[in-house]
Amino acid sequence: MDTELTFDPIRLPPECDRLRAEVRAFLKEEMDAGTFSPNVGGGIDGAFSPDFSRKVGQRGWIGMTWPRKYGGQERSFLERYVVTEEFRVANAPVRLHFVADRQSGPVILKYGSERVKAGILPRICRGEVCFAIGMSEPNSGSDLFAASTRASRIDGGWLVNGTKVWTSSAHHADYLIGLFRTSPPTKENRRHGLTQFVVDMKTSGIAVNPIYQMTGQHDFNEVVFQDAFMPDDHVLGEVDGAWKQATSELAYERSGPERFLETYYVLTELVRVLGDKPDTRAAEGLGRLVAQVHALRRMSVSVAGMLHAGKEPVVEAAIVKDVGTLWEQRLPHKARDLAAFVEEGAANRATFEEVNAYATLVAPKLTIQGGTTEILRGIIARGLGLR
Ligand SMILES: Cc1cc2nc3c(=O)[nH]c(=O)nc-3n(C[C@H](O)[C@H](O)[C@H](O)COP(=O)(O)OP(=O)(O)OC[C@H]3O[C@@H](n4cnc5c(N)ncnc54)[C@H](O)[C@@H]3O)c2cc1C
Repeated sequence: MDTELTFDPIRLPPECDRLRAEVRAFLKEEMDAGTFSPNVGGGIDGAFSPDFSRKVGQRGWIGMTWPRKYGGQERSFLERYVVTEEFRVANAPVRLHFVADRQSGPVILKYGSERVKAGILPRICRGEVCFAIGMSEPNSGSDLFAASTRASRIDGGWLVNGTKVWTSSAHHADYLIGLFRTSPPTKENRRHGLTQFVVDMKTSGIAVNPIYQMTGQHDFNEVVFQDAFMPDDHVLGEVDGAWKQATSELAYERSGPERFLETYYVLTELVRVLGDKPDTRAAEGLGRLVAQVHALRRMSVSVAGMLHAGKEPVVEAAIVKDVGTLWEQRLPHKARDLAAFVEEGAANRATFEEVNAYATLVAPKLTIQGGTTEILRGIIARGLGLR
């Protein structure tokens, strides 16, 4: 094997406990005020709340690891971890700012022009700006480097033509980070020739068409570009060299607590419906689920710690996403099985059934978004020198 797998044994430091208490108090206040419900009733679109995002921004909990110069708080990745975890478990409506906070902001910070950084990052921190990710295309999903949406050079900028698909939140987004073809691939390097751009979604020549989820929610879209103009200083990093930039972005995207907590409400409702005296089979099954999520959490915290230390734990992040998404995907099925002998009409049964039915419809996408299971396993195998 070329590479060793390393999960540094990181524990959250004491300042994280203080922050956790603050975040919980804030969330309780918001839930008591009726801003959102920890159950899934609001669904995906209900999770988009400009008011809530602004309040989170005022607390300094968006872009919290970024430099103060750009509106950040210069806090640690582990503190950010705590905020993400608490918001996810509470099912808080973070959709407006979440992608910008997790990955678009860090990419801009690293590769953006000064004008773009100064103009956009402080607004992200205030919870005012929604970002979408424009990578996938009709004939280029797993194989990102086959992307064919083209950016052609003209005076002062670029003209973009082509179609992106499965673009989450594009119908809400102020900006999108697009991966466009600026040159053909070379013989030596088929990944060459792609460039990342910050796309202002108000640009003329961009049409957003809805695609509906199995739950009936409008979550993602098709985005069509027809001669859409991008100014030169909206290029991120090196022209034709986006493939070099993609790996660290994906480590941020793949390892967070949102990669195993998306159906966590099912576990909460399972505990409620099983009550104080579950039978041995249910207690064993529940214990196993809790032990598994605990192990996943230790791995995910470890990746956050390694990112904080400036490492690029790409393989470890892929493992967290692979194991984590399979866990959250199987949870509704396991929960249904464990609750099978709970009496009809028992307390909490109706709520359990309702959230579990919703989670069952949500579950299939979990192992596709952000890289499929098969692709992650390819990355892990390559990282370990096995292929
Ligand atoms: C809920 C959701 C939200 C999404 N949001 C976004 C978004 O915001 N922005 C964005 O750009 N994309 C988004 N996507 C798209 C997602 O990243 C792609 O769907 C994913 O990368 C798979 O690409 P594909 O759908 O083209 O499938 P394909 O790449 O065609 O794959 C089809 C099947 O073949 C397998 N396969 C493909 N290649 C290989 C290989 N080399 N080895 C082994 N098996 C392989 C895959 O694992 C899969 O099972 C989202 C997807 C979902 C489900």
